[in-house]
Amino acid sequence: MTQPNGPQPRPGILDIAAYVGGEHQGHIRLASNEGALGPSPKAMDAYAAAAATLHRYPDGASAALRGAIAKRFNLDADRIVCGAGSDEIISLLIRSYAGPGDEVLYSQYGFLMYPIGAKSVGATPVTAPEDGLTASVDNLLARVTPRTRLVFLANPNNPTGTYLPASEVARLHAGLPPDVILVIDAAYAEYMNKDDYTAGEELVEKFPNVVMTRTFSKIFALGSLRIGWCYGPAGIVDVLNRVRGPFNVSTAAHVAGIAAVEDAEFLDRSRRHNEQWREWFSATVRQLGLTVHPSVTNFVLVDFKGQPAGKDDAEAARQFLKARGILVRQMPSYGLPSCLRVTIGTEQEMRAVADALRDFLKG
Ligand code: PMP
Repeated sequence: MTQPNGPQPRPGILDIAAYVGGEHQGHIRLASNEGALGPSPKAMDAYAAAAATLHRYPDGASAALRGAIAKRFNLDADRIVCGAGSDEIISLLIRSYAGPGDEVLYSQYGFLMYPIGAKSVGATPVTAPEDGLTASVDNLLARVTPRTRLVFLANPNNPTGTYLPASEVARLHAGLPPDVILVIDAAYAEYMNKDDYTAGEELVEKFPNVVMTRTFSKIFALGSLRIGWCYGPAGIVDVLNRVRGPFNVSTAAHVAGIAAVEDAEFLDRSRRHNEQWREWFSATVRQLGLTVHPSVTNFVLVDFKGQPAGKDDAEAARQFLKARGILVRQMPSYGLPSCLRVTIGTEQEMRAVADALRDFLKG
């Protein structure tokens, strides 16, 4: 593929379909897995106070934010790297460790930034089929080749809402050659309450080839500020610090992130709210006759497959909801065309989506 005029980008760049985020114009925005309760009021205050220093460059080392994260999650601050969203961390990892001819492996319904990142450096994205809607360790390991450089596992996964238990993640790591990096993308980790779940910290502590990525965009509800971070072995942290931009996280993001991560009460409330309304919404929509795939995250997949003709069309349902000002995400780009992904919002929002789905099925 080439562009009609002007300089051509590197091979493979024009094979990338630009990432299209969730829609923005609507009263009820449940298309992007944003935190239902908005940010902690303490984070909003800290953000506002940062206005007085807008003329100053931020601390390029993100030291205070790394310190607050380390304290909250009981980690070593020197092994944390902060970035402009975990998107940046994902792309830094791929840029640093993969190039033309290399392969980046991930699971069938994995996050779209993995193939975008791979293609942007001339590497080949490789997918492994899932078992139902859950990543399969056997299928991932079967697709490792001498060219594999990184394996991405979103745990829990977006958009399926499923997770792999710690024993399966350990089995995946144990099956990888030592020169392949396992990236555990734990963007939704804070929503988890399962005893057999781990975001992977203990693997990062033990092995030089495991990285865990996290974000402030989900339960901390600071998506607009673009704050992500990773926890990694010293060697990988050193590499990421060499390639990242010098001031990749703003002062406003630092101070709001610190306030958010220190507000344990708000975090707890957000987690309880999410669980309550995820379970309510799932049960209510199942009673309407739709399939709702079990989720451990702040979103659910509603599946229209098997509905009577005309009611089995997820895109028609999306448009019906949109006409009521309700934005949800249709998932054809992930290979799930019969599904809508609905983020868990406020009580009022969840009741409105359930009512609209009822009307769609009736109408
Ligand atoms: N990983 C996963 C699995 C996600 O769902 C998302 C957000 N959609 C991200 C990473 C990126 O989040 P952010 O860049 O906002 O940190």
